[in-house]
Amino acid sequence: MTKKESSRIEEAIRLAKKAHEGQFRKTGDPYITHPLAVMKIVEDWGMDEDTIIAAVLHDTIEDTDVTLQDIKDQFGEQVAFLVDGVTKLGDVRSGMNDLDTYLPSTKNNLLRLLVATGSDIRVLIIKLADRLHNLRTLSALPPDKQKKIAKESLEVFAPLADRLNMGRLRVEMADIAFSYVDPKRYNQLRTIIEDYEKSAEKTMQKVRKEVSAALGREKIKFQISGRVKSVYSLHKKLIKHNQNMGEIYDLMALRVIVNDITDCYLTLGVIHSLYMPMSGRIKDYIAMPKQNGYQSIHTTVITKDKKIIEFQIRTKEMHEYAERGLAASFYYNEQKLTENYRTGKIEHLPTSLLWITELQETAAKLRAGKKVDIKKLRLNLFADKIFVYTPKGDIIDLPKGSLPLDFAYRLHSEIGGRVRGVKINGKMSSLSTKLKHGDIVEIITSKNPTYKASWFDKIFTPHARQKLRQQLGKLGKQ
Ligand code: MN
Repeated sequence: MTKKESSRIEEAIRLAKKAHEGQFRKTGDPYITHPLAVMKIVEDWGMDEDTIIAAVLHDTIEDTDVTLQDIKDQFGEQVAFLVDGVTKLGDVRSGMNDLDTYLPSTKNNLLRLLVATGSDIRVLIIKLADRLHNLRTLSALPPDKQKKIAKESLEVFAPLADRLNMGRLRVEMADIAFSYVDPKRYNQLRTIIEDYEKSAEKTMQKVRKEVSAALGREKIKFQISGRVKSVYSLHKKLIKHNQNMGEIYDLMALRVIVNDITDCYLTLGVIHSLYMPMSGRIKDYIAMPKQNGYQSIHTTVITKDKKIIEFQIRTKEMHEYAERGLAASFYYNEQKLTENYRTGKIEHLPTSLLWITELQETAAKLRAGKKVDIKKLRLNLFADKIFVYTPKGDIIDLPKGSLPLDFAYRLHSEIGGRVRGVKINGKMSSLSTKLKHGDIVEIITSKNPTYKASWFDKIFTPHARQKLRQQLGKLGKQ
């Protein structure tokens, strides 16, 4: 951080301190402890300076005499824009006191939130940090408020964190929230996990030693650590498996972090040569990332003394991304992000998060009063995405339900307009075949345009529909 940057932050802290003077939280602490904590959180996430400043000022407009103009004059338009967004997001939510009507209308609609907040995803990141700190200090609130905030966190904010692949945040939010929503179940499951941890300790140590020695012999550089399943994810998994603990194999896992992808596969080989892998339990999320971009190889093995252990193998970058998600991308792209921000675009995000750019563009259009057919967008916070591959191995993300023409138009409208056929996983297939997660899709093109109006029936995404319409329009004029 340069001197000028840090002095801007110091100035913001001074302003926030002055503005919140004499205010206290329900915990009894001076109010300023809250914005300072939120600031610290986004700082730890590696966010850019404007976001850090906006975080410490995020409650000033609503609760103090400071005006948006003051913030604009002192810290510039960017910061004012972010603070305004966080304030508006609060307004959107506080107008909806009844959770039952509020949740269905917002939880599925990140777009709506983005429109409300000015289309900048950083507003949501500040909001997530704000919510995290409120959860950490939730015990000071009356029980009915605790339950309401906890429930909303489980249903809206933790899934949002997951969608952004912010794993560490998701786990902490979900576990705190769950402990308020269902304290009895929370304590039961926590005990189960702790008991298991104790009983498995010796095995884990032994396995760790064996694996470390074997990796050392292969000259693979690695870090190995244990990870315990979070209470809430155990709860969710048990629901999926009809409460059958016997089907939970990943209560304890060993995480091996290596330098590159080749070493990930070598490590998998080393582990499988030591222990018997359980069939059907190898998941290669490196070749086929999860929908939120998560990458890792998971394998469950049976040790010599018949204990079941899951391994998670990944590179340092994958680990960083799994823990911090979108925030990690901001960190690596901060320079470019601040440059591109003026055009309202976030660029250079990993492929798996490009939908955010799309979402921001749409939100900006809506705010500018331009017409957007929201129904056709199918943009949904929890919408399923699939990843498919070009024959060269490039990953293309598409909404679930996409067809070969959607894929072709996504590659390029020029390719879309000349589709003659499609091979899916090496086999000639019909243009009406729904693509599946992991498919390798090869488009066969003809020299001349082949598009026709009947293609509208074989298209799922608004993007492809729009491109086809444009092409047909041009044709009409000729
Ligand atoms: Mn706040």
